[in-house]
Formats: sequence, structure tokens, C-alpha cells
Amino acid sequence: MKLYKVLAVVLNSREMRDAHRILTLFSKQQGKIRVMAHGVTKPTSRKRGAVQPFSVTDFLLRQGRDMDSISECEGREFFPGLWTDLDKLLYAGHIAELVDALTMDGNPHESLFVNIMNTLRELDKTADPELVARWFELRLMALLGYLPDLTGCVNCGGEVNGLKVNFSAQAGGLVCASCAFGVESVSCNRGTVAVMDTLLNWDIDKINRLRVTQPARSQMYSIMREYLQWHMEKQSRSMQFMDKLNSFSSVHK
Ligand SMILES: [Zn+2]
Repeated sequence: MKLYKVLAVVLNSREMRDAHRILTLFSKQQGKIRVMAHGVTKPTSRKRGAVQPFSVTDFLLRQGRDMDSISECEGREFFPGLWTDLDKLLYAGHIAELVDALTMDGNPHESLFVNIMNTLRELDKTADPELVARWFELRLMALLGYLPDLTGCVNCGGEVNGLKVNFSAQAGGLVCASCAFGVESVSCNRGTVAVMDTLLNWDIDKINRLRVTQPARSQMYSIMREYLQWHMEKQSRSMQFMDKLNSFSSVHK
């Protein structure tokens, strides 16, 4: 049986019988792949840390008839900060869910791999995990060819004026007042669009300098929820969960 090496981020790990797991990896060399991990949940397994979600790990994989499996693995980065902060853990799960839902198996994308790794590193140490998640969502959309148009009206090319503007997930960006008739759109402040534009243009290690108001955060969340849902063709599970947490905390304030 042929063996080969990949460097990969573990996106998720699904439990099977007999302490086996099926891991979804996003690898530098082959993009998204699913592999079998035999016996890794046994307390004695040396592989446990290396196969835990969000770890960056060197894998030696063995080609199989139905599914390749892990022969050896060695964890490189584990991001302990994600496991001691519920918000960070939720956002890491959200990032993994988006990558899994929006990429195809066996389609290499090295720049996406690097961006996932950098996002997890930033999430691990940031004081503002929400903004890191928004940065990643926008970067992911741009890398996959779904870059939203935030300059003019995506429909007619005209100027989008006023302090309140409309973002249409379906159209793929801002729409002017006349084009907003007849398409579903989210109304937001121009300042929110400016923040999104900054996130799109800045590297992730700079975004901790940004100060973003609460209204802009809620509007960005609504816009990205609609936009991601449109491209995923379903609601994000992690965002549904965040909605529930948000409504719970606003009732109990
Ligand atoms: Zn228009």
C-alpha cells in the first residue's frame, strides 16, 4: 500500500465504533480530504492531540481502497487558547464548518490553507474573536471567487449613495436604492461597509488595531449570515447556535 505525506489542519473528527474516527482535513497538498484514524480515542493513543480538531499536523497517510488512513502523525500546532474560551471554540468550529461546506474534496488551495492556519493562530491569542471570524469569512469568500462588491451597485454599476445602504446576498454586494426593489437585501450603515472593506484589505495580524462599534458588528453579522447562507445553500449550524446564544444573553441581561 502506498504511503504519502500531507501537512493539514484537522477540520473535524467524527466518532465511529471501536475508538475509530473519520477526520476531515484541509491539507496544503490536496485540499480537503477525509481519512480514517484507527483507535485514536483510546486514552493510551499517542495520536490524540494531533488528531483533535483545529490541530495543525504532519500526517503520513496510507492509501486505502475506500478511504485512506493515518499511518503516523505528529502535531505541530495545537492552539490551546481555543479550548479555554467558549467564544473562541465556537468561532473555530464556525471556520471549520465554512471550509468544509464551501470546498470540494481533493481540490488543493494552498493560499486558503495558509489563511486557515493564520486565522487559527490569531484566534488563539486575540481579545476579539468575533472580528477574526468576520475577517476569515470575507477572506474565504474572496479566495473562493465570491468577493462581494462593496464599491458601487453590483446590479447596474451606478453609485450607491446615502448613509444607509443595502447589501444583497443574492446579487453579491451593494445595490442602489432603485435596484434594491425586488431583491432581498439587508440595510446597513455606510460605516459598516467601510469596516468590511478594511477587513478585506488588511492582513489578519493588523486587525486588532480596528475599533468596531456594536451596531457595525451586528450589521456585519447579519450581512455575512445572509451571504454565507446564500453560497452554502443552507444555514450555517454554528451561526444558528450563535443566534440562540445571542437571544439568550439579550433576554437575561
Ligand atoms: Zn443599481
